[in-house]
Formats: sequence, structure tokens, C-alpha cells
Amino acid sequence: MKTLRLLLGDQLNQKHSWFRGSQENTIYFMAEMRQETDYTVHHIQKIIAFFEAMEKFSEWIRNKGIKVIYYRLNDKKNKQNLIKNIEDIVSRHKIEKFEYQLPDEYRLDQQLQQLKGKLSIESQAYDTEHFLTDREELCDFFHGKNSLLMESFYRHMRKKHKVLMNNEKPEGGKWNFDQSNRKKWNDKLGKPKQYQLKSNVTSTLARIKKSGVKSIGKVDPENFIWPTSREDSIKLLRHFCQYLLPHFGDFQDAMDPNEVFLYHSRISFSLNSKLISPKEAIDTAIKSWKEGKASIGLNQIEGFVRQILGWREYMRGVYWMSMPDYENQNKLKNSNDLPDFFWNAETSMNCLHKAIQNSLDNAYAHHIQRLMITGNFALLTQTHPDQVESWYLGIYIDAIQWVEMPNTRGMSQFADGGLVATKPYISSGSYINKMSNYCRDCIYDVKQRTGENACPFNSLYWNFLIEKRKLLKDNHRMSMMFNLLDKIERKELVEIQRRAKKFMTKKQ
Ligand code: FAD
Ligand code: SF4
Repeated sequence: MKTLRLLLGDQLNQKHSWFRGSQENTIYFMAEMRQETDYTVHHIQKIIAFFEAMEKFSEWIRNKGIKVIYYRLNDKKNKQNLIKNIEDIVSRHKIEKFEYQLPDEYRLDQQLQQLKGKLSIESQAYDTEHFLTDREELCDFFHGKNSLLMESFYRHMRKKHKVLMNNEKPEGGKWNFDQSNRKKWNDKLGKPKQYQLKSNVTSTLARIKKSGVKSIGKVDPENFIWPTSREDSIKLLRHFCQYLLPHFGDFQDAMDPNEVFLYHSRISFSLNSKLISPKEAIDTAIKSWKEGKASIGLNQIEGFVRQILGWREYMRGVYWMSMPDYENQNKLKNSNDLPDFFWNAETSMNCLHKAIQNSLDNAYAHHIQRLMITGNFALLTQTHPDQVESWYLGIYIDAIQWVEMPNTRGMSQFADGGLVATKPYISSGSYINKMSNYCRDCIYDVKQRTGENACPFNSLYWNFLIEKRKLLKDNHRMSMMFNLLDKIERKELVEIQRRAKKFMTKKQ
């Protein structure tokens, strides 16, 4: 039976069972499309990375002697829309069966359902064979429970997949070593040794520019830093395990103005495009830990495993459990505009300036910069979650809605009212000062709450607690913050609120 198999841009899994066995009557189809470049304004490096990775993947298929149709963005036959392209190919190639892998995004899932209804031939869906859970596993796990505590899901995953387990007990007698992972970084340790990947993406950039696709951020097309093949992704992962994993846990929450990646792995694009699998990432890291060559402590390996086996699978489960309602959640009723400086980094707040500039330069910020600098500021200024989300969905190399949305709308903006986070991730300047080296070069004084030099995070923090008190008063994890708020004198509170208002961009 003549079969058409669709591969989406984030389904680049060479290990998929599709690539075993006979392919005689099979044609694969991959396409760069305007529907994908235009659903939000993406960082230029993100568009390049996907197109480069897709094209390389199509060459890998072709080199196996398998037929593949690859549409570039400017190909005449390309109808720029998934449904139209597939209908057209089915008719021109007299296709008798259509097969696809389950998409990770709701919008594509809907589109493929629609397509199936329109096609007169048989259709069949397959698993992507990438994740360690299926779409429903988290929902089933939490069925009948009051809250979706990540920690209990993570322990379930550790036991189920026998990761860092000593029979029935967690390795080292503890499930979580987060308490040891809160060190501030300084360069006395020497600079973290970063993997240097510099590929040439000039022609892909030219193609994108010629098509007039709107984008944000910068790129150096002769020195592209992101891996777009399986080989380079594996090299990056190995480099991480050898040189960076030994300090990963210690400095997981640390921030520095001059160190973009610190000890983070940078494998999120490789994982999210499925060039490598979560199991491979975990197994490779555990192997390095067991071999003991790089002397990796238990807190480092556990911290890394928790991100992938815990948070990543958890976020996927929350997404599929909560869509489509999730994308409209705004439980804190925030309505302000995202400040303009999110698009150009032009702010005198040093932490925000550096975190946003890095994001524009590299399509990357690590987790704590996303959560406690940009996310914290957006929440404290009571920005509408739709605007926060479209920024996060566009700017990061790894931003795909299934993982971006629960992280942004849920964990960072508390717009789901506490499904993902047990309390809003907000802080004044003192947390930023404790975990980073931003404040020493900032024009603002991190110790002041009021006055023209006072750190804006301070007044915004207390103002947030005043303004959102009604909505958060029943959250027992907030009670200490409200107790401290009650100790501030009325006169100072008025001044705090006056100052905070200066940093909020009221919706026009
Ligand atoms: P490392 O710190 O080295 O961690 C290793 C891996 O663990 C990551 O590659 C990632 O796959 C996984 N991981 C870590 N934290 C999380 C998490 N909270 N959720 C899911 N996976 C996690 N991650 C994305 O992949 N895509 C996104 O669009 C995205 N948006 C985010 C938005 C906000 C507001 C926040 C707070 C976090 C977001 N994250 C997102 C999670 C996290 O910040 C990134 O996965 C991480 O920074 C990627 O860099 P890395 O590969 O160096 O990660
Ligand atoms: Fe950021 Fe405030 Fe520190 Fe400046 S003083 S870097 S604004 S936290």
C-alpha cells in the first residue's frame, strides 16, 4: 500500500521504529512552512535551528535509500499549510494510506484531526517513541488527588524507570538534594568550559530572509552555536557530562552577567526536536557518574535527572491534562502590557538588561534567569499572561508550546492558580542579589525599598503582595510574606506603591 509518512519539525528521532524494516512503498514528507514560522514571532536562531535540523534529517533518510519529499520555505509547490500540502501530495502521488506521529502541540493535534476527517484514505497515528510517559500518564497518576505535586510524580518515575535507585530506596537515602544546590557562583573556580560548536548557516539564513519571515534576536551565521544533528547533539551531551555535570547541581540556580550557560547542558533544543531522547540523556549522565572519572557528586547527578525525568515529563503531562483551557488561564487577573525593553534589552536594571540581552543574542537563558529575572518581573508588574507567553514562545531555542506553556503560564506566572507551583515565584531584589552577581554593577540599590535609587524589584514585590492579597490570602505558603508585609509602616507602604506604579506598563 502506497503510504505517506509525515514528519514534523520536532520529530527528528532517528531511533524511531519507522526507520526499521521495509520502506519500499513509503514516502516521507517534511516541510518548512509559513504556518510554523508565523504563529508567533520567533528568534531567528530558533527558525534556523529547526530548518537546519530538518534538512539534515531528510538527508539522513535519503541516504538510507528511502524516498523523502522535503519542501523548503520558498519551494513553488509548498502551500505553506500542513493540510493543504498533505492533500496535494496525497492526490499527486496517489497515496493510499497516511501515517503520522502524535504531535506534541495541541494546535497541530487539532489540525491533524481535521485533516484525517478530510482525507478519503486510511490514516494511522503512531507514538513518537521519545518520552518516558504517554500523554495521559500524569493525569492517571494524579487521579483523585488534590494537588499535582511534582515531587511525588518524580519519585514515581524514579521507581518505575529504576533510575538512581538502590533496590526500593533512593540512591544516597534521599530523593532530592535541592538544598545543596543553591550556591552563588564566582570565577575563582575558573570559567566553565563550554562546548564550542561553530557551524555555517548562511544559506538557511538567506532563505529565511528572502521569504520575509519576521523574527527577533541576532545570529552570527558563520558561527552558529546550536547542534542541529544527532552527532553534534551527542557530542554536546558528552561534553556536558565530562566538564559541566560535576558542578551542575551546585550552581543550578546561580546567575552571572558574563556567563551565559554556566554549568547548564544546553541540550533542550536537541531534546525537544528529538535528535536525542530523554533516556539517552539520563543514561549518559548516570554512566559518567558511575564511572567516577569526572568525580560527579550525587547532588549534581540527581539535580540533572530531576530536570529531565521529573520536570520535563511532568510539564508534558500537565499540558495534555489541561489543554485547551490552559491557554486562557489568568487566575491572578493580570492585565498590564509587557514592557518594551523585553524586545530590546534597553533597561537600566542590570539583571533584566543582561538576561534579556543574552536571550536576544543566543536564544537562550537558563532556568533561573527565565523564572526569577524576566518571569519574576513580568509577574510583579502584573503583565497579561498572553503577552508574557508569546515572548517566551518566540525567544527561546527550545520553546515549543507543550513545555513553554506550563512553565510560563503555570510555574512562572501562576496564571493557573497553583496547578504547577504551590505559590507564585516572586522575589524582591534580595534573592537576585543572593544568587547572582548582577547587583554590584547596577545603578539601583538592592537594599532600598523606596527612594529614586531603590531596586524596582523591591517596591514591585511588596506592591504585588498588597494588590494580590485577596486572591492569595488562602494560600498558606504565602502567610509568612503577608506577615512581613503587615510589619511595614503605612507611610512606607504608600511610598512603595507610588514607586511600583512607575514600573508597570498599563494596558492602553
Ligand atoms: P539544563 O538546566 O541543563 O537542564 C537539562 C534539561 O532538563 C533541559 O534541557 C530540559 O530539557 C529539562 N528541564 C529543565 N527544567 C525544565 C522545566 N522546568 N521544564 C521542562 N524541562 C526542563 N524549557 C523548554 O524546553 N522549552 C521552553 O519553552 C521552556 N520555557 C520556559 C519558560 C519559563 C518561564 C521557565 C521558567 C522555564 C522554561 N523552560 C523551558 C525550562 C528550562 O528553563 C529550560 O528547559 C532550560 O533552561 C534549557 O536549558 P538547558 O538545556 O541548558 O537546561
Ligand atoms: Fe536587578 Fe535590583 Fe539587583 Fe539592579 S539592584 S540588578 S534591578 S535586583
